[in-house]
Amino acid sequence: MAPLIAVYDLVKTYGEGPACVHALRRVTLTIERGEFVALTGASGSGESTLLYVLGCLAKPSAGRYLFGGRDITTFSAEELAHLRNHDIGFVFQGFHLLTRTSALENVELPMLYGPTMSAGERRARATEALVSVGLGDRLTHEPNQMSGGQQQRVAIARALVNRPSLLLADEPTGNLDSRTSLEIIEIIQRLNTGAGLTVVLVTHEPDIAQYARRIISFRDGRVIADRPVPHPQSAETDLRRLPLEDLEHSA
Ligand code: ADP
Ligand code: MG
Repeated sequence: MAPLIAVYDLVKTYGEGPACVHALRRVTLTIERGEFVALTGASGSGESTLLYVLGCLAKPSAGRYLFGGRDITTFSAEELAHLRNHDIGFVFQGFHLLTRTSALENVELPMLYGPTMSAGERRARATEALVSVGLGDRLTHEPNQMSGGQQQRVAIARALVNRPSLLLADEPTGNLDSRTSLEIIEIIQRLNTGAGLTVVLVTHEPDIAQYARRIISFRDGRVIADRPVPHPQSAETDLRRLPLEDLEHSA
């Protein structure tokens, strides 16, 4: 089977002439179904740009991008919108939820653009997605009534509700404290190992990258290292250890 993602000599530039920024310089890589990949590097190295290109939120300036073996650089706007909505889920550092809108309504949103579904079915699927991220008791809460970690879990439920094959996350723990970050990574690890979801996650925190199974490092728009993580950290295990450490500190 073709890899889920294959990019060849991918180039992305912003602007023109002397102001031109080379965000990606001939990036070539493949990602198989079921992988959990962390993209790391100093800020400005191009990881977010790559994630946006992979998520079809940005168009590459040059190079090829095959998604599941299909060359998406030839896709029409409609085909790209369909791919974005059905095959790809996106999670951002800043959550990007609609304010004054309940968790349920936020998660129902992506289903409004898909095939026609009854209101009852949308509600059932949104509820199921929120329960799966541990928010069964927060269905009608609005973002300003929830913690950062809870808001990010709503965003994950929204990203997954159309059952994509790929989850893209841009610094999903960047705004969260250590414990809450681990809770988010635990959900992402469970989705990867349990449900086989392919995950590509950008992080500038070396500790967070150790939960992935492969780390690709960037500098100045280029891949400078690409290595497997032989023994990824388990967020579930590390979470269970946290209360003991808290006790030791207070003793
Ligand atoms: P990272 O995620 O590693 O911080 P980015 O992909 O956001 O890196 O940015 C890579 C480079 O491209 C940086 O130099 C950044 O300033 C530039 N860049 C990113 N987005 C834009 C944009 N919309 N317009 C102009 N330059 C941009
Ligand atoms: Mg970034």
